[in-house]
Amino acid sequence: MSTNAALARRFEQMATILELLGEDKFRVNAHARAARTIENLTQDVGAIAADRDALLALDGVGPKVADKIQEFATTGKIKEHAELLARIPAGLLQVLDVPGLGPKTAKALWETLNVESLADLKRVIADRSILTVPRMGEKAAQKIASAIEIAEQGAARLPLGQAMPIAVAIVERMLKVPGVANAAFAGSLRRGKETVGDIDILATAADPAKAHDAFCKMRGVRQVIVSGESKSSVRMAIDLDAASDADRDIAATSSADSPTAEAASPTAATSERTIQVDLRVVPEASWGAALMYFTGSKEHNVRLRERALKAGRSLNEYGLYPNDDDPAPPHKRGIKPIAGASEEEVYKAFSLPVIAPELREDRGEIDAAQRNTLPRLIELGDIKAELHAHTTASDGALSIEQLTGEAKRRGFHTIAVTDHSKSSVIANGLQPDRLREHAKAVRRAAAATKGITILVGAEVDILADGSLDYDDDTLALLDVVVASPHVALSQDAKTATKRLLKAIEHPRVNILGHPTGRLIGRRAGLEPAMDEIIAAAMQHDVALEINAHWMRLDLRDTHVRAAVEAGCLIAIDCDVHAPTDYDNLGYGVLTARRGWLTAEQCVNCWDHNRLHDWLATKR
Ligand SMILES: [Zn+2]
Ligand SMILES: [Zn+2]
Repeated sequence: MSTNAALARRFEQMATILELLGEDKFRVNAHARAARTIENLTQDVGAIAADRDALLALDGVGPKVADKIQEFATTGKIKEHAELLARIPAGLLQVLDVPGLGPKTAKALWETLNVESLADLKRVIADRSILTVPRMGEKAAQKIASAIEIAEQGAARLPLGQAMPIAVAIVERMLKVPGVANAAFAGSLRRGKETVGDIDILATAADPAKAHDAFCKMRGVRQVIVSGESKSSVRMAIDLDAASDADRDIAATSSADSPTAEAASPTAATSERTIQVDLRVVPEASWGAALMYFTGSKEHNVRLRERALKAGRSLNEYGLYPNDDDPAPPHKRGIKPIAGASEEEVYKAFSLPVIAPELREDRGEIDAAQRNTLPRLIELGDIKAELHAHTTASDGALSIEQLTGEAKRRGFHTIAVTDHSKSSVIANGLQPDRLREHAKAVRRAAAATKGITILVGAEVDILADGSLDYDDDTLALLDVVVASPHVALSQDAKTATKRLLKAIEHPRVNILGHPTGRLIGRRAGLEPAMDEIIAAAMQHDVALEINAHWMRLDLRDTHVRAAVEAGCLIAIDCDVHAPTDYDNLGYGVLTARRGWLTAEQCVNCWDHNRLHDWLATKR
C-alpha cells in the first residue's frame, strides 16, 4: 500500500466526518485539502515525513497537518482519525460511501430518521420516509436507491484496475519463492475483462508443497480456504486505501470528472473487502496447457476441446493427448502429451497461431486464427499521444509544465491540454475569458518546450440537448475538441442517441470522450444506439474514445469491437488528472485489444504528422 494513498484516505475520512458532525468549516477544508495534496504528491510522503520543513513547504500542509503526517509515519495511526471514527456509528461510513449522498444528507438521515447503516438507508427508501428529509425529492431518492443496487451487484466483482496490481504483486512474490520457475496470472484478469470475480495464479515449482506454503503465508492473506497438493485458495485483502481516496458526492459533483475519487464501494468502509485467489502448481510439461485452460473463457475452451476431439485428440489442463477412449485421464496413466509445455506448442499442434488472451472469448477468434486473419492487435508501446488531459486550471492536479513533462518523459510526441468547459462548475470548468488566458499559457509552454507538441484543447461538455458548452468563436481557439457527456446521464436511449449524434455532427469535434459516461459498478450511464453513433462518427471523421480509467473503460469492449468492424476511428486516452493516471493506459489498451483494435485504427498511435493533419481538418 502506498503511504500517500493510505494517508490521503484518512484525511479525507476525517474531513467527511468533521463535516457530518457539523464541525468548523475551516477544519473540514484543511483536512480535505491535505488529502488532495498528499494524494497528488509525486514523492512518497513517508520518505520526507522526518523532514518537518519539507512537509511544511507542501501546499496545504500547516503545523497541525504536519503533526498528523509525522504521527502516521511513525505509528501507522492518527489518533484524531480514530477518535472521529468513534464519534459516529460504524455503519454510517457505509452510508457516506453511497454515491449521491453527501455528509449533509447523511447527517440529516442520521438525526431525523436514525439511519446508522446501509440496511437502515434501504429501509427509509422502501418506506418512503426518506422523502421527509429536507431537499430530498423523489428523483434524488431514486438515484440513491439505484446507486446502492449497482454497487451491490458490482461488489462481488473487483474492477480490473484494483485486481491487476494485486495479481502482479502476487506473481512477483511467487517468483521469489525458492524453486518456483514460472508464475503467472490467468483467468478473466489475463483476458483483460473490466471486472474479475477471483484471481487465478499458476506456477511451476521444484517443491510444490513449499510453493503452496509460501502462498498461504503471503502478506495480505486473511483466510486460507484450501491448502492442497495442487491447489490452494485464500482470501486476500484488497488494498482499498490505494484504490479509493475520497467519498465524494456524485449527485453534487456529477460534472466533476475524476472517477478515482468515486471508487469506494458502499460496502467497503466497515468490513474489509477480500478477493479469492487460487494458486495451482502444475508440472513443467503442462505449463502451457494449464495457462490456456485457466485463461480461456468457458466457451473458448469448449470450442478448442471440440476441435481436439475432431482430430482424434483430447485437451485438458495437462496437455493435448491422443484420444484413446480410456476414461482415466491420460496424465494419470503416465501418457506423454503431444503438446503442453507452452501455449505456442499447444496452438501449433492445433495448426493455429497463438490467439491473444484478450480474444479468447469465442467471438470468432478461432475461425479467424484458422483463416490467418487475426488482427495485429494494438500494444501499449504503439501509443504516442495523449489527447485528453486536465491541469490545475480545471480539476487536474498538475500544472501545464508537469502534465506535459510527464507526457514527454513517457515518450509521447503530442499532448493535448483539455480542461473542462464552463458548465462543469464543480470541476472548475473554464469560462471563455479564462479559457483565453489558459490557451495563452499553454501556447507559451508549447513555445518553450522542445521534444513534444503541446496542443490547446478542451473537454467540452455535451449539454443535455446535444449542444456544446462553448460557442463557435470560443471553439475556434482550440487545436483539439474532446466532447463528453457529464450531466443528464440517466436520459432515455432515444434522447441520448439524439444528443450524442448532435455532438458528433458538430464540425469542430475531434473526439467523443467517454461516450456513455458509465462508471463500472457505480453508474450505468447513457445507452445510446451504438450502431448509429458509430456510423455518424465515421461519417464525420470523429474518433470514439476508450477512456482508459479503470472505473470507466468507456467505450466498453463490445462497443469497441462494433466500432472496429465498422472501420471507425478510436482514441485511447487517460483523461489525466494526476500523474499516476498515465498508468491507466494499459487498461485502455486491454479493452481495445478485447475489441480487436489495431494500431492503424487508433489515432493515438499515428505518427506526428498524420495525427496533426487529421486534427487540422476540423480547424
Ligand atoms: Zn470527462
Ligand atoms: Zn476529462
